[in-house]
Amino acid sequence: MYKFDGKTVLVTGAGSGMGAACLQRLYDEGATVVAMDIRIDDLEKAVQRLADPSRVQVVEVDIANHAQVAAVVSSVAERAPHLWGLVNCAGVRGIGTLMDWTPEEWHRVISINLDGTFNICQAFARALMKANAPGAIVNISSTAGIRAVPNRLAYVAAKMGVSGITQAMALELGPAGIRVNAVCPGLIRTPMITNTLADPENVERIEAAYPLRRVGEPEEVAAVVAFLLSNEASFVTGAILPVDGGNTAGKPSH
Ligand code: NAP
Repeated sequence: MYKFDGKTVLVTGAGSGMGAACLQRLYDEGATVVAMDIRIDDLEKAVQRLADPSRVQVVEVDIANHAQVAAVVSSVAERAPHLWGLVNCAGVRGIGTLMDWTPEEWHRVISINLDGTFNICQAFARALMKANAPGAIVNISSTAGIRAVPNRLAYVAAKMGVSGITQAMALELGPAGIRVNAVCPGLIRTPMITNTLADPENVERIEAAYPLRRVGEPEEVAAVVAFLLSNEASFVTGAILPVDGGNTAGKPSH
């Protein structure tokens, strides 16, 4: 008997990085997974690596598109055996100072990271409420959703927003038995930060800022996501949980 036997869990951004690790972990724990990504080829490759790909439904979706997300989730919900969970990993990076940001790039980063979280959470919660069913949501925020970092203006705005709406949704959906939590990863070794980790000096500087003296692995985030999604976390909602090797715990000593 696994934690998610018989339960359906939606994972966005499932074609890469933390989303792919969540797909693997939840699949291993018995879930039927609806794997969503904008990049269908990566997604199909990730699913083919699983022992029984038939336990996973692959869906191409642009999380920033409200109408498309609403239609996809409503159609999935009609057929899902026991709709239970949502893990929202789809996201993009954005780098630049206040003076650098163009309105187009600002809009792109906000619309995928923040509007996208709203879109999928609203559609998922709507499906659960319609079925009068409990469930759990885990949003992937960031340490930038806890405290600001330089040169990431729209990213910080989006992730602070993700942390904020996670708590607001927890207040609103708690009475319906729907828990909503956020995980705030520090630097995690995924394709998103390949360039950052390509420079050994960068890596040395980054690792020095982490009490555990290393960056994290996507599987270490997936383990926490699986816990928050499961009944073992039955009294946890509205939590903004760092998974960051201690990076936000305080300033390094000097
Ligand atoms: P990743 O490997 O780039 O995976 C993100 C996935 O989301 C990619 O497959 C990406 O496709 C997809 N995606 C992008 N835009 C989308 C859209 N509009 N609709 C649907 N899917 C879309 O990144 P990751 O590192 O696993 O990041 C997962 C989440 O963690 C993100 O929200 C990120 O901000 C957050 N995070 C990452 C780190 C880190 O150090 N890696 C730290 C803190 C927080 P494309 O490849 O085509 O863009």
